[in-house]
Amino acid sequence: MKEFNVIEDFFKAKSIQRKDVIIGIGDDGAVTHIPQGQALVTTTDTLISGVHFLPDTPAHAIAQKAMAVNLSDLAAMGAEPAWISLSLSMPEVDETWLEAFSNGLQQHSKYYSVQLIGGDTVKGPLAITITAQGFVPFDQALTRSKAKPGDSLYVTGTLGDAGLGLHIAQKKCVVSNPLNQAFLLNRLNYPTPRLLVGNSLRRIASACIDISDGLIADIKHILNASQCGATIHVDKLPLSPALKESVTYSQAISYALSAGDDYELLFTVSEEQKGHLETTLANANVHATYIGQLNGSAGKLQLRQADKPYEYSAKGYEHF
Ligand code: ADP
Ligand code: MG
Repeated sequence: MKEFNVIEDFFKAKSIQRKDVIIGIGDDGAVTHIPQGQALVTTTDTLISGVHFLPDTPAHAIAQKAMAVNLSDLAAMGAEPAWISLSLSMPEVDETWLEAFSNGLQQHSKYYSVQLIGGDTVKGPLAITITAQGFVPFDQALTRSKAKPGDSLYVTGTLGDAGLGLHIAQKKCVVSNPLNQAFLLNRLNYPTPRLLVGNSLRRIASACIDISDGLIADIKHILNASQCGATIHVDKLPLSPALKESVTYSQAISYALSAGDDYELLFTVSEEQKGHLETTLANANVHATYIGQLNGSAGKLQLRQADKPYEYSAKGYEHF
């Protein structure tokens, strides 16, 4: 099968059609329409076999994760996704793998109304780069840099699940309850981009980031960009029943603080916006947990448990 047929059969044939795409897959470039009053948000993430996913990860999960991590970045910006491009490097044309991969991509495309508008297909080690684009009303993009001392800190969902999921997948630990094991592996392989929350936070959050490298690593980006410090109360960290039942409490806290891959949103809200936050979250039927408070000691992060400092040294995932 030639490059052309791969693109035609697996990607063009399965792509959904949005009204704002004037020219999609098949020409030298895609041509799209940006609605009036909206700004374009663009983000890229690469997943490399052996680095970002285990080589035996099902192709369907690889596709959905590659898309989800990009949509998660759009969510963190408060943007609504519209289009993706896919750059696919693979060692050979494996039709079974491509079938599963393109089905995974197609399912997410339909679910999130995101059209695949182009890409590149090359021979090489297995690596998937997706560029996602979306819209945010002009001037309403959420950023890392506008948090203020006194703002409250929140996180969506639960933390640490994907971290334990990775250790299960790597056979570094065993979880006896099969339902918990399935839940944790699912959190690793099929992260959920928090688009609804991200969109609802537009006029409410002062800063927002998605947690890809672990809470401690990612909060530092907000603290540095906003010139703030923070206190996190470790007993408030949202932990799933599966995580709590599978490891000790202090291990669960460690996963929640420094394991990556959860793709939850971490955001800050000023005192004045707190009322808004509660109604917005209730209307969107989503849950976020208060975990701490910002202060003026720029760049400093304090962890506390009850009224004592919580001693902790591990960092989040760093590539270099
Ligand atoms: P060019 O030689 O001009 O770079 P290609 O032959 O690489 O064009 O691609 C042909 C068309 O197929 C282009 O519209 C490109 O965007 C699209 N395309 C290539 N690879 C992919 C892919 N993996 N997924 C989606 N579209 C792709
Ligand atoms: Mg090419």
